[in-house]
Amino acid sequence: MLNATHNPQLKSWVASANSQTTDFPIQNLPFGVFTSAANSEPHVGVAIGDQIVDLYLLATSGLLDVNASLFAQANINAFMALDQTVWSSTRARLSYLLSNEDAATQAQIEPLLVGQSTATMLLPIKVEGYTDFYASREHATNVGTMFRDPENALMPNWLHIPIGYNGRASTVVVSGTDVRRPLGQLKPPTASEPHFGPTQKLDIELEMGAVVGTPNAMGTPLTVAQAQANIFGFVLLNDWSARDIQVWEYQPLGPFQAKAFATTISPWVVTQEALEPFRVDGPVQQPKPLDYLAQNQASNYDVALQVDINTAASDDTQTISQTNFKAMYWSSAQQLAHHSSSGCAMQTGDLLGSGTISGTTKDSLGSLLELTWNGKTPLTLASGEQRCFVENGDTLTLRGHCQGDGFRIGFGSAVGKILPAHSL
Ligand code: MN
Repeated sequence: MLNATHNPQLKSWVASANSQTTDFPIQNLPFGVFTSAANSEPHVGVAIGDQIVDLYLLATSGLLDVNASLFAQANINAFMALDQTVWSSTRARLSYLLSNEDAATQAQIEPLLVGQSTATMLLPIKVEGYTDFYASREHATNVGTMFRDPENALMPNWLHIPIGYNGRASTVVVSGTDVRRPLGQLKPPTASEPHFGPTQKLDIELEMGAVVGTPNAMGTPLTVAQAQANIFGFVLLNDWSARDIQVWEYQPLGPFQAKAFATTISPWVVTQEALEPFRVDGPVQQPKPLDYLAQNQASNYDVALQVDINTAASDDTQTISQTNFKAMYWSSAQQLAHHSSSGCAMQTGDLLGSGTISGTTKDSLGSLLELTWNGKTPLTLASGEQRCFVENGDTLTLRGHCQGDGFRIGFGSAVGKILPAHSL
């Protein structure tokens, strides 16, 4: 439901928050965890323009009626575990405090601001479990065409089940963390025996991650509407993938080491409430999903997404893909409902990768696997360099935002640079 915090006319006394191109206007107010030169203890903060409001200090000062200890934490899980009404009342109070042009309020809050350029962002959530889905019909069709059979690219279950696998929570890292090229077992098509070595097909997957705020007990499945309400917010997510390891290992139990080495997320969790004005219907689902997956409200989000590359040899930044989250076949709410449908307990801090987000055009694909058609049609960058997959020294950056009227709800970025593999 829309409320006063969504008003497009709302402005902040933090001047940088009123720029049309900032990711963090007063309508956003995403949650993250940071340290700063002045304070090496992690605190929970909210981004506003190019600043961060230190919520621990704000609560300690008495301006925010939430237990301050919830914000002297290395992650936002304790806050996410509170009732949804607390998420909402905290957002409303922050919106009021940061928009209220009252000199006394400003004078109290200004000393609690930390410049983002002077802060170090930490992994915002303690990731209890990481599950990755496969919910873009375009992506699933492309991969099925390449890896199996163009005539039967979608597996028979795909239109009935939000397909997923249990990934590794232990290697989810915050934006800016370098990623080591993984070693693995490889069997090129021309080889008769597998060998062990560095992946030759290191890839990205452009995804959004849904963060579970409210848990459900073991044995108590969620409806789609309940699942929707239990999602605290969203991050950008790069599900790094080693395609040559994947293609050899994935049958019959799905990806394993090919995706276990690193997953990069953005440091700011944009709340579901901030995204409310950008909720849209997804594609028509035909055949009609089974009743437990039926959704009777718009559950997709209109988020413009892009992937940028920087190589070691060039100072240029080049956008290699632009797409949108809104076309995903299965919504995050359906994925969470399905995940709980067996009685699986979902916990505060669980992370659900949407699956690679690919559009219908050649420049809207969410992986290099698709952009170069498994290396057959390399990308030529402005510098003249060619790329089939990610090379050592490359930096890949995901960005995303919802475009409002005169403002945007941004997700910041999810950045990772590739280091050479360990020598054997
Ligand atoms: Mn993935």
